[in-house]
Amino acid sequence: MINIPKGTKDVLPQDSYKWQYVEDMAREVAGLFNLKEIRTPTFEHTELFQRGVGDTTDIVTKEMYTFKDKGDRSITLKPEGTAGAVRSFIESGLINGVLPAKMYYITPAFRYERPQAGRLREFHQFGVEIFGSKSAQTDAEAIVMADTLLKKLGLNVQLYINSIGCPTCRAAFNKALKEFFEPHLGELCYDCKTRFEKNPLRLLDCKEDACKKINVAAPSILDYLCEECAEHFEQLKACLDLAGVSYIIDPRIVRGLDYYTRSVFEFVSTSIGAQGTVCAGGRYDGLIQQLGGNPMPAVGFAAGIERLLIMMEQTGVVIPEPAKPTVYIAGMDGECRKKAFELAIALRKNGVFVEIDHMERSVKAQFKYADKLGAKYVAVIGGNELAEGVMNVKNMSDGTSEQVSFDAALTYFQNK
Ligand code: ATP
Ligand code: MG
Repeated sequence: MINIPKGTKDVLPQDSYKWQYVEDMAREVAGLFNLKEIRTPTFEHTELFQRGVGDTTDIVTKEMYTFKDKGDRSITLKPEGTAGAVRSFIESGLINGVLPAKMYYITPAFRYERPQAGRLREFHQFGVEIFGSKSAQTDAEAIVMADTLLKKLGLNVQLYINSIGCPTCRAAFNKALKEFFEPHLGELCYDCKTRFEKNPLRLLDCKEDACKKINVAAPSILDYLCEECAEHFEQLKACLDLAGVSYIIDPRIVRGLDYYTRSVFEFVSTSIGAQGTVCAGGRYDGLIQQLGGNPMPAVGFAAGIERLLIMMEQTGVVIPEPAKPTVYIAGMDGECRKKAFELAIALRKNGVFVEIDHMERSVKAQFKYADKLGAKYVAVIGGNELAEGVMNVKNMSDGTSEQVSFDAALTYFQNK
């Protein structure tokens, strides 16, 4: 017996409707905001993520699934969706087309992490990217879109926002951070010592308790924003107020990617504990240029589908179950079964949801099975019925029965 790899999950046939529900909602909301779907490969050249996610991030330093292919190229399974979308946006020439370019994706993502509830090695994201607009209203639109989806899914979440400024204001902030953390260097975790040298902003993102304790008293980026970044943040807040989306300003949100600028945000649930962030994003005005395009502003977010589903379950959201068969046609013997098969084909051609026997069960056992399937009607064809060209149709909800001729079957079941 070969088992499933650690950190991965099957979605079984009886559960897939829950995934489809969330995906359908995501597509519907994306459509309302005029986003079109983009699909990019599951693997890319490793360098794309090194440059696009940032080589001081957790993702690139320790979480990527990277291997050499048979042509000796370094390949990486996508750990997130933004880098691929940006690569494609540049490579396809859409970057020279009509702006803004608004797109979404639903994709698997791969990260070598310690598996826990809501933290997998293969997980799935619904993500959104809007390229070309620098307006804070666009940041707000992305946030409102995420908020719309979360509410549609029946979830109660708290939105946290922050601004991490631009490279100019961040230089001053990094200096202040280094001054603050310097006396605490001995108490910081191993990773944070590297962060201190390479990218002090990352220190604020550490999940180790010891580091978190020190972080509480760290300087706030909001005190270091340049005039334009401060103005942009004010505009974002004004747009969110206008949209009626409530938020908490949390100056410690910095996000896991290196190329975020200005707005960053997270939607957090209190109910799944440590893995409470279901949706996160922000503005990344430096990324497109970083990946070889002309400088172009961009904003986006990604929501983890597994975490959404966990939260929905914990919240008690009832997801509508898939439709049940309209009719189960049971045949008593070989000839009757043949007729059932023929009728099923004709009815399905006309859009009627039909099931028949595949296990050569007795009529009694077929009835039991049809009931388990939740079929609305069970039609029985016995020897006499076959001779007369009719079937005995039982309405499973009220127990009544009537005879329906083979010729009338379509009209009978079509609108049931
Ligand atoms: P975390 O801080 O929880 O590790 P992150 O900052 O690494 O999250 P992002 O890269 O922003 O996460 O990804 C966006 C969303 O994808 C997250 O908010 C979360 O819902 C989901 N996600 C990220 N990593 C995983 C994972 N390993 N398993 C399941 N979902 C994940
Ligand atoms: Mg992470």
